[in-house]
Amino acid sequence: MKKVGKFEDEHSESKILRNIPSVHELLESQELTHLYGTYPRTLVVSTVREVLEGLREQLKGAIHELPLPDAIVSQVKARLIEKASLPFQRVINATGVIIHTCLGRSPLPVRALENVRDLASGYCSLEIDLSTGKRAPRGEYLEALICSLTGAEAAMVVNNNAATVLLALDTLARGKEVIVSRSQLVEIGGSFRMPEVMEKSGAILREVGTTNKTYLSDYKEAITPNTALLLLVHPSNFRMVGFTATVSAQELVALGREHGLPVMYDLGSGALIDFAAYGLSHEPTVQESVEAGVGITTFSTDKLLGGPQGGLIVGKKEFVNLMKKNPIARALRTGKLSLAALEATLRLYMDKENLQETLPILEMIARPLGETERQCKEFVEELSRRAPAVEVSIEEGFSTIGGGSLPGEEIPTRLLSINPRPHSAQELADMLRLNAPSILGRIEKDRVLLDLRTVRNKEEIWEILSALVSCYTRGQGTGVRG
Ligand SMILES: *Cc1c(COP(=O)(O)O)cnc(C)c1O
Repeated sequence: MKKVGKFEDEHSESKILRNIPSVHELLESQELTHLYGTYPRTLVVSTVREVLEGLREQLKGAIHELPLPDAIVSQVKARLIEKASLPFQRVINATGVIIHTCLGRSPLPVRALENVRDLASGYCSLEIDLSTGKRAPRGEYLEALICSLTGAEAAMVVNNNAATVLLALDTLARGKEVIVSRSQLVEIGGSFRMPEVMEKSGAILREVGTTNKTYLSDYKEAITPNTALLLLVHPSNFRMVGFTATVSAQELVALGREHGLPVMYDLGSGALIDFAAYGLSHEPTVQESVEAGVGITTFSTDKLLGGPQGGLIVGKKEFVNLMKKNPIARALRTGKLSLAALEATLRLYMDKENLQETLPILEMIARPLGETERQCKEFVEELSRRAPAVEVSIEEGFSTIGGGSLPGEEIPTRLLSINPRPHSAQELADMLRLNAPSILGRIEKDRVLLDLRTVRNKEEIWEILSALVSCYTRGQGTGVRG
């Protein structure tokens, strides 16, 4: 590879080559030791070797100047990211979106984590009734808890809400007609489309009404001897305004009774408490649906309920028992980790007084503005001490619920607004995102905005601070990709 005649001065070439840092020196640099938590050490070592080898080759060719150590480190980082796409890792959520589907929806309550550790690090009574020593269905104790919280006769846990809908329709309406309003044929993010799920279940969709208005008479006129179910879907991720009409659960239940047809209500977000008490608009609760006489109510356990991924079916015993006997149920059953987390989360609801402290999503929703403001002020003071050149201000803004829950609801918040100079806003956001742990904010009007409402604790606030300080002290361009 050596190009003859390229260097007039062989002596200076070897001098530059001698100044290349050693593998050992680079591996000891603070920037790279940070990476050991993220990548296997052997991968970091081999990548450092490759980058240094490449550098040697380049220096033998046209480039005469040795890049600064910072630039070498960023080459190593960029190469690592290319090689080993970033791992599944912790993210600091400074987006202000509380139930962020891409970030794992609800952060789990401490009690849920403790229960997972206690039950899963050894053996647990997953499918045994300890009072008799006989085999018992999994999740039985949890289902009793759900019934007492919601007033339902029976309950069943599956892997997620999509699974509840599939199981309910397959069990009760395979080959039969299900009547649903055109305004409720929703798509939930990540390819859950109500009409498509219904088709997969073998149910025949009978759409009634129009996009904006559906009346009770529309359902009534669509009933045939082949009708199995009247379906309501809570449009949990959008809101209809203006010239609209929908039919309530009570009205539909009354119609169903006249014709001997059950009503199913896919609630989605699954509120067990009234969010109006927290200054948000009223989200239909599971209890209200049960009380209205709805036969099958389905909802997610990781949206407004604030637990792990899961789907709950609550309602009349005759329907729930049929679903339990459906062979598909086995393919949709929940694992012990989720059951342990869900049981502990539901137990928190028995002590509603303290729910605001024990349930993370509720704590974030209910956190007083003054507290966020105080955290922002402290942050700005500390940042000004550690990186005086960074221009940061506190702005008024809004956090949102997210996760397809309470659409359009905004919670007033205070935002840290950071002037990215000398970086661009995108570059600064990239550096924060590629930090370990990753930090996600948003970009608005060429500034990076961070909402501390969704940042989990003081430690995470300090992690953001240190990451920011190093973005500005590390020099321009370091660690940035594209
Ligand atoms: C979110 C949602 C679903 C899907 O729930 P997953 O738990 O994501 O499977 C289904 N129906 C409605 C109305 C929803 O809001």
